[in-house]
Amino acid sequence: MAAKRKAFQALKRLTTVAYYTAVDARGANPSWAALGYPGPLGPAPQVPKPIRPLAVAGDTALDCDVVVIGSGAGGGVVAGELAAQGKDVVVLEKGAYLNESDFSQLEGEMLERAYDGGGLLATDDLSAIILQGSCLGGGTVVNYTTSFHTPENVREEWARDHGLPHLTKPEFTRSLDAVARRIHVTTDAARPSARDTILIRGLERCGWHHGLLPRDVDRCTQDDTCGYCGYGCRRGAKQSTLLTYLQDAHDRGARIVTHANVRRVTLTQGRATGVEALVQPPGAHRGYALTVRAKAVVVACGSIHSPALLLRSGVSLPALGRHLALHPATAVLGDMEEPVRPWTGTVQAHYSDQFADLDQGYGFKFETAPMHPSLFALAVPWESGAAHKQAMTRLSQTTLCGILLRDRDGGRVRVDRAGNPIVRYRLSRYDAGHMRRAFAAAGELLEAAGAKEISLPLARRVAYRPGPGARERWLSELDRVGMGPNQMLLVTFHQMASCRMGASAKTSVVDAQHQVWNVPRLYVADASVFPTSSGVNPMLTIMGMAHRAAGIIGAEL
Ligand SMILES: Cc1cc2nc3c(=O)[nH]c(=O)nc-3n(C[C@H](O)[C@H](O)[C@H](O)COP(=O)(O)OP(=O)(O)OC[C@H]3O[C@@H](n4cnc5c(N)ncnc54)[C@H](O)[C@@H]3O)c2cc1C
Repeated sequence: MAAKRKAFQALKRLTTVAYYTAVDARGANPSWAALGYPGPLGPAPQVPKPIRPLAVAGDTALDCDVVVIGSGAGGGVVAGELAAQGKDVVVLEKGAYLNESDFSQLEGEMLERAYDGGGLLATDDLSAIILQGSCLGGGTVVNYTTSFHTPENVREEWARDHGLPHLTKPEFTRSLDAVARRIHVTTDAARPSARDTILIRGLERCGWHHGLLPRDVDRCTQDDTCGYCGYGCRRGAKQSTLLTYLQDAHDRGARIVTHANVRRVTLTQGRATGVEALVQPPGAHRGYALTVRAKAVVVACGSIHSPALLLRSGVSLPALGRHLALHPATAVLGDMEEPVRPWTGTVQAHYSDQFADLDQGYGFKFETAPMHPSLFALAVPWESGAAHKQAMTRLSQTTLCGILLRDRDGGRVRVDRAGNPIVRYRLSRYDAGHMRRAFAAAGELLEAAGAKEISLPLARRVAYRPGPGARERWLSELDRVGMGPNQMLLVTFHQMASCRMGASAKTSVVDAQHQVWNVPRLYVADASVFPTSSGVNPMLTIMGMAHRAAGIIGAEL
């Protein structure tokens, strides 16, 4: 059954995503009219590209002080801060340089151009879809702008249980505050979308916590022209590292190479001395070898590719690739009387921490997120063509209560023969218990908010119309149908902790100075150094850690 479920999900995902995202010569999809979905809101604006990446037109060798691999939340900040210290910095990014002019708002095209693996990456059994940005600016270009400071209880847990006292000190708070200032984090841009309005209504009627989301935007209109932010912000309101730290780095002379896939870190007598990359510029007939010699190497490829790169480079530590946390995310859907148009409005504006601490800081958050046709198609079951079609045509009346689980038990990143990452992750019994609590609470919330039908994101249709005993029967049905691999939609937007920081080479990959144990001058500065999952959307924590890492690396040089 497990193999059949896997094959079925592979087929369902590929066909439905292709079906709802393919466009004709006019740039439209024939199904959108039936869904009430408008597609892109006009052509992309013409905005000049202020960064000039270094052109690589043949095999090339570069020398620098620091080479930074990956340009997302971690790499972008390290590059910007080290360049501000006057260091000679080279940034290598495997993705393309995309800006406002490229953000076509077409789901298929943007998944293909801005996301790793065209948005189709998944764990080895396909049970969790892995969404991560892969372009200049990494995840910060496509993410939903939520910018939480690291919660105090998590800082204390990391300090206490992982031997990292600096994480509770003012030094780290100063780093978090500095990055929050640079990317303009405020709670002033939290105008509720229709999705948020329903979420807030449900939370208030249940008497549960809700709060405004801090966001890293400047002049975000938060109106019906928003909601396509997961495919890049056309207004340039989102303060990604592309618009902030990478621009700073570039303005201070850093060299930035795009389409540069780093294959190995060069180790000479046990020290990191540079990297070897393959550069494949668009339209070039062949790739070029790029060798960078550097006094320090900073790995910031994200929590899937950073351990893979270290493994390919011959680093051997027991914790390398282990403890991968994913914040498994899913949603309960509510069919509403009112129009929702769940793809529009502020990307996410409100959240609830009512159930964030069910057990020693582990639990779940409620948030919403824009739902465009392909995401909805992933959540809607396929029991027959007619049933699928009927559910899909309810898109514009459907809301979602998003569940973001703080997972306690991790997975693992290994590499295949070619050195590419393979991700193994199974929801543990403990974490699945919290997920079931989340389904029950989300059902209660949507019922209170006035949903006329509530359904689970399962491979089978499990739905109920509110009435006496209906929710209890729905939960029994959930237990009967099951929440195992490929029986339930799981998406990870937050990959963490696969090169975790700690106090010993036996249990962690980097020390408190971000240096890989026993490998001088090799640093990691991205979400992979989290000791465990952060419990909140991780961007600001990553940036705060990277800010501190840049201070350490600069001083060391
Ligand atoms: C759709 C979406 C929404 C999200 N919303 C939020 C949110 O609202 N708030 C929040 O806090 N977080 C959010 N996140 C998560 C957040 O964006 C990520 O946690 C964060 O960007 C991770 O930072 P990082 O530095 O670890 O890696 P990334 O930002 O992923 O950067 C890694 C970069 O390294 C590059 N790379 C990888 N391998 C190589 C290689 N071998 N050579 C060269 N380059 C390489 C990649 O192309 C990528 O650009 C979201 C993520 C997604 C996908």
